[in-house]
Amino acid sequence: MTMLLNIEEIDVRYGRNHAVKDVSLNIADGEIVTVLGANGAGKSSLLKAIQGTVKSTNGSIIFKGENINRWSAPKRVQSGLVMVPEGRQIFISMTVEENLLMGAYSRKNVDVTNEIETIFERFPNLKERRNMSAAVLSGGEQQMLAISRALLARPTVIMLDEPSLGLSPILVKQLFELIKEINSEGLSILLVEQNTHMALQYADRGYVLELGNIVASGTPADLLADEKLAKAYLGGD
Ligand code: ATP
Repeated sequence: MTMLLNIEEIDVRYGRNHAVKDVSLNIADGEIVTVLGANGAGKSSLLKAIQGTVKSTNGSIIFKGENINRWSAPKRVQSGLVMVPEGRQIFISMTVEENLLMGAYSRKNVDVTNEIETIFERFPNLKERRNMSAAVLSGGEQQMLAISRALLARPTVIMLDEPSLGLSPILVKQLFELIKEINSEGLSILLVEQNTHMALQYADRGYVLELGNIVASGTPADLLADEKLAKAYLGGD
């Protein structure tokens, strides 16, 4: 398997707060990799550092064999590394369709009409509301819109920051099925989740972050077999 993304010993600091400490992580082509950990463990900071919206102070980020440390966030998006932030961050002053068009912004002058129609076929609820303000969407629909918008950037790796947050169990299940589907279409996925149960059910591998440090990594079976871990982070008993 080719390694698509190699994170090597990166740090993120906010002044004196050392949020991500010497973290290494990799994703092979086609993998679903999850990052688990409690509130404040540094999960969002790690994703933001990979996207380039916060600065990593050490180490390197290698994407498709290239060191992208110095690349701006837009350049990283353009090269296929796309993050769906926590809380969806859709544009509520825009229509559903305009939100989707924004996703293709980095691709410059590409006609995405057909891609948008394909998305509407997949999500009839979005189609019905295509000309309405995105503010009318439910939480689940907003998450679908946020993921669809990211897909329009044509990512190779999609990074999802707590996508299941605030969704009902049925919608959480639908969301994970969607993640599996886009993964089977060829996308690699880096998934930050607090819903460890679901994340480990769908991921190929996982990492556990504690106060900025990776304290464990492995297959879901490996992680669940570690009693101490299971008890502390993985909802086991
Ligand atoms: P959550 O699930 O609550 O989002 P997380 O695991 O994603 O948690 P981060 O949001 O990355 O954790 O936060 C890691 C640490 O960095 C925390 O101590 C947090 O208070 C701090 N932090 C995050 N963002 C900033 C910021 N912009 N400025 C200063 N400190 C920050």
